Amino acid sequence: MRLILVCSVVAFLTAARPAPPARAPIAPDEFRVRYYRLTLDLDPASETLVGQVAVEGLATSPLLRHVGLDLASTLAVDSVAVRGQAVAFSRPGDRIELDLPRAVPRGEGIALTVTYHGHPQGRGFSFGAHDGVPMIASYGLPYTARAWWPCRDTPAAKADSADIVVTVPEPLVVASNGRLVAVRASSAGTRTFHWAVRYPISPDVVSVAVTDYVTVSASYHTARGDSMPLVFYVYPQDSARARQDFAVVPEIMRSHVARFGEYPFLREKYGIAEFARPSYREHQTLTAYGSSLITGDHSNDRILAHELAHQWFGDLVSVKNWSHVWLNEGFATYAYALWQEQRGGRAAYRAAMAQADRDDFSGPIYIADSTNLAALFTATTFDKASWVLHMLRHVMGDSAFFGALRDYLRAYTYAAATTEDFQLVCERRYGRSLAWFFREWIYGTARPVYALEWTNASDAPGGSRAGVVTLTIRQVQSEAPPIRMPIDVTIATEQGAAEQRIWDSLATQTFALSVGGRATGVTLDAGGWILKRLVPPSGLEGLRYMHPGHQLDLAGLAALRVADAGALGRLMGRGAGRGRSSDRGSRSPPCSGRARRPRAA
Ligand SMILES: [Zn+2]
Repeated sequence: MRLILVCSVVAFLTAARPAPPARAPIAPDEFRVRYYRLTLDLDPASETLVGQVAVEGLATSPLLRHVGLDLASTLAVDSVAVRGQAVAFSRPGDRIELDLPRAVPRGEGIALTVTYHGHPQGRGFSFGAHDGVPMIASYGLPYTARAWWPCRDTPAAKADSADIVVTVPEPLVVASNGRLVAVRASSAGTRTFHWAVRYPISPDVVSVAVTDYVTVSASYHTARGDSMPLVFYVYPQDSARARQDFAVVPEIMRSHVARFGEYPFLREKYGIAEFARPSYREHQTLTAYGSSLITGDHSNDRILAHELAHQWFGDLVSVKNWSHVWLNEGFATYAYALWQEQRGGRAAYRAAMAQADRDDFSGPIYIADSTNLAALFTATTFDKASWVLHMLRHVMGDSAFFGALRDYLRAYTYAAATTEDFQLVCERRYGRSLAWFFREWIYGTARPVYALEWTNASDAPGGSRAGVVTLTIRQVQSEAPPIRMPIDVTIATEQGAAEQRIWDSLATQTFALSVGGRATGVTLDAGGWILKRLVPPSGLEGLRYMHPGHQLDLAGLAALRVADAGALGRLMGRGAGRGRSSDRGSRSPPCSGRARRPRAA
């Protein structure tokens, strides 16, 4: 079938679209960190940490005189040394500020050592227990690295490498990032674990996890025949369940590698460390994974796929600041659907995307205030962002979309990116601007609500165009101007069904499609590529279906012709109805999806 006519712009709304908001500032880069060495002594009995952190970097300002690091004010700094020489420092808030003994020209190295101690507060680091055994773990949320070690606490400030050297009482085991290069026992009944990280790493994904771990191991084999350890640190009593659950990790790894390229930390490992929080976090090469998630029945495979994908999206490529966190969370959530597609084909992929349609998405995906923690990790930045990637795939086509993913990972490998960086990479592959798409879906908040009417053109008064179906799509969402999207239209005829793509962008838009026969049914977006709602079948049941949470004005509705979506919106008190009501009799449009709750007004 062929699109023969796009016409009849019945109504066009000129309401302003949301402009991309002002960007949150990227932290000034006065020096570039090259290396961290964390030397920590953890005492579970007193719940204290005694630490020394060495920081090496390069001056990036013309003449560096002053240096600052982030460290929680609840930790006491004993001394700061510059190249071994003690210097004066101040502690404004959660900072350590100091003047260098001499100004350092751009490109020259600096080396600091901070000695400190205390009981870490807040969520970033906790002393606890499981079954009477000490359980100590970091939890790398935004701005929580400073809760337990001094650093430049922004995801953009990656060190080229790090060493993490942790001493604990026997028989506790320390799991951390990178490779375990030494374990040294002392006569004092302690053991020191030395972990070496030889890939760039952001502070928020540096981690330690300590308890009476046992390990469950497996291997990942690359296409080139290399092998890398998969090491899972779990509580002894959970090892059987963990062995069951984590058996799927090699399969997920192969799926992610096929889509995203080789695992980025191949010379080290991929690991998981069980910890006490009912949560999970993508610490580099060592995902933190809550005890309650280890069930032995694969009920959290989705989280395993999500966390492993973060090794590419979040760790290999970090965000320049937390405003862009959707680049981490959207991709990690979407990766689960891609794995499902690899495993079970298009139906499994669609089912995974349908599960991610949480409906009550609030606010834009781009979080203008990068310090607003409550907005950073929500269904909007996880699930809606995964839908945005799914829709972008539909807009760009598979070849350009997956090419762009690879380009993005390559361009920002072991570095950090922004939303604009990703958009630009996509536009290069697509060959056209995608500003409209990002404006609608990343910076905007609406989803389209489509009302469909269709008729065989030959049925119209005086109509003689056999084999043409006339299709009118109205966008009746109340909260936003019309949304531009390509919509696949499936038209059933007595000869069979066929699909055509139309570009819909107006409040009311009519299309005449050549179908080569008499149409018996029309379905919008049968493939489920658009985060949308469809105006339901006519009648009160349809209204209840669409607005399950609303008190309906039944008397008013009884008198209403349901085809008039504008009046419908007004009855619902939502001010919908930018589209013109039609004089033609409406057919019941096809309807898909589950009952939906309206967004909060
Ligand atoms: Zn995540």
